[in-house]
Amino acid sequence: MDREAQVIGFRRDLHQIPELGFHEEKTQAYLIEALQKMGLSPQSIAGTGVMADIKGSASGKTVALRADMDGLPLDEDTGLPYSSRHPGSMHACGHDGHMAIVLGVAQELAQSREFAGTVRVFFQPAEERPPGGAPTMIAEGCLNGVDEVFGLHLWSSFPVGTAGLRAGAVMANADQFRIRVVGRGGHGSEPEATRDAVLIASQIVVNLQTIVSRRISALEPVVVSCGTIQAGHTFNIIAERAEITGTVRTLDRTVQQTVIQEIRRIAQGTAGLYGAAAELEYEYGYPVVVNHQTSVDKWAKNLDGLVEMVHHQPSLGGEDFAYYLQNKPGAFLFLGAKPEGETFPHHSPHFQINEKALPMGVEILRRAAMAVLG
Ligand code: MN
Repeated sequence: MDREAQVIGFRRDLHQIPELGFHEEKTQAYLIEALQKMGLSPQSIAGTGVMADIKGSASGKTVALRADMDGLPLDEDTGLPYSSRHPGSMHACGHDGHMAIVLGVAQELAQSREFAGTVRVFFQPAEERPPGGAPTMIAEGCLNGVDEVFGLHLWSSFPVGTAGLRAGAVMANADQFRIRVVGRGGHGSEPEATRDAVLIASQIVVNLQTIVSRRISALEPVVVSCGTIQAGHTFNIIAERAEITGTVRTLDRTVQQTVIQEIRRIAQGTAGLYGAAAELEYEYGYPVVVNHQTSVDKWAKNLDGLVEMVHHQPSLGGEDFAYYLQNKPGAFLFLGAKPEGETFPHHSPHFQINEKALPMGVEILRRAAMAVLG
């Protein structure tokens, strides 16, 4: 079977069995079987993760290639013949493709062995939500003895045949917050006896939008989004409590700290203005993904003529690949996978990738390994 048919086959098999973070049992069994068929000796790691070493014909450095394994809590609505067979779960971010690509690389390297050193392939559970699978993978040794680590993400907004690879921050600090407002509840006809938590929470949501526009330089990428607001019981009761949750995305630690300080000040100040109280609970998510310059340089040089490099801004999404790059040099690439028809965003129930990107992904990651091992 040629490279393209093989990698598309892996992807379609995996696409049908999406599983949520740390529950990737069928996925793990599939990967282990596929790697064993290649003559490799995969081991499980971090619960539902998988790791296998491929030794070259001579000794040398060790390069790790990573794929993430988890799907999302969605009902697939693509109409594809190989749609999810698991109601309530879908590979709607391309992780099925990432696994297929890394399997494809493993297969080629297991056959040829024409390199000096070791290529470690690893498949990590639970990328989609913090705390993520990466910290457990690292704690259980996936980076032990590794010199450099590489990964990629299929990206449906970039055309097939293009890729984004740049040094420095490429994905964001992705944090979450919760603001609890405590006012004084009462009768809807008698607002003067209350401190209306609905009104106060509404003012807080509006005031939070002044952080990006008035407190942070226009040259700094920042997002402050409120995702939920919950309060009240019924129409004629003034609510005593309200809760707002949201996310903050930044690329810079100083900016991140300023945003936290401003959220707290605005929440407490706004509540205080109306005689109520508010408290902020802030939770750090994945840190920034920072690509190492030397890894980017050698990888990019090896990709000359294979893909067209696009100049791109960092994404304000989060990725737990960040933790690998805090421990080892390496880089993370965005691979163009724009479908031929309408493009739906990642995490949409209609999300699709262009499978033509898959064989290209195999070659791109293989070249990352060869950029180090020669
Ligand atoms: Mn993803």
